[in-house]
Amino acid sequence: MSGRFKTIQARLGKAFPLPGWCFGCQTFLPRATPPWLCRNCIQKLPHWQEGICLACGHVHHLSDCQEDWTLVLDHFHAVFAYVDPIREWLSRFKYGGNLNGGRILKALLANYFNQHPQLLESVDLILPVPSHPKKLVQRGLNVPAYLLDLPGLSPTNGAAKKIKETSSQAGLHSKERQRNLSRAFAANPAEVEGKSVLLFDDVCTTGATLEELALTLKRTGANSVGAWVLARAVKGGA
Ligand SMILES: [Zn+2]
Ligand SMILES: [Zn+2]
Repeated sequence: MSGRFKTIQARLGKAFPLPGWCFGCQTFLPRATPPWLCRNCIQKLPHWQEGICLACGHVHHLSDCQEDWTLVLDHFHAVFAYVDPIREWLSRFKYGGNLNGGRILKALLANYFNQHPQLLESVDLILPVPSHPKKLVQRGLNVPAYLLDLPGLSPTNGAAKKIKETSSQAGLHSKERQRNLSRAFAANPAEVEGKSVLLFDDVCTTGATLEELALTLKRTGANSVGAWVLARAVKGGA
């Protein structure tokens, strides 16, 4: 599957060869190419760091963690920490309708896929975490599906759907989160049985959504389920 990603950057680059401004700091760029950021802003991007726990976002080793929800995942990667400027760009895109924010995040994600092709080698299908149909109507798009809509990548939007409307996970304890999301998803056995599935979401905060969707896919017969997120929330100012 990795070979498919080689042309992503080249194709995106051809579309916008004009001068422009850095999206992060408004520095003039004589030749603005994806991801439309100056070198300084690229260097300051909050890439996910070793030492921060993926399960809970605190700075400690996974073996010291009280959270065990990641056990349902066969692998888990975060591209960035959910801090500014990634948090700001994503929220401008999701809640403010700023399409440039979305375009930049897509280009950064394309870079990451290009740089880590080995992480996709054994993946049979890529599944953006589905939204409930009502949410889709409200927002107009499914954010993870939009971010993954890259040349050469073939996400499988129909392999699972969200069948239950859920309230925000913020402020809920783990038992309440489980109840809130219980049976929230349904998967299509014809598409997932025996497959290695890679979930993709824009943000992971509590992990409850990825946990419930991974459980659903495994109950439906998926062979393995891993997850990538654009950004994982961190705790304690990391
Ligand atoms: Zn800049
Ligand atoms: Zn932890």
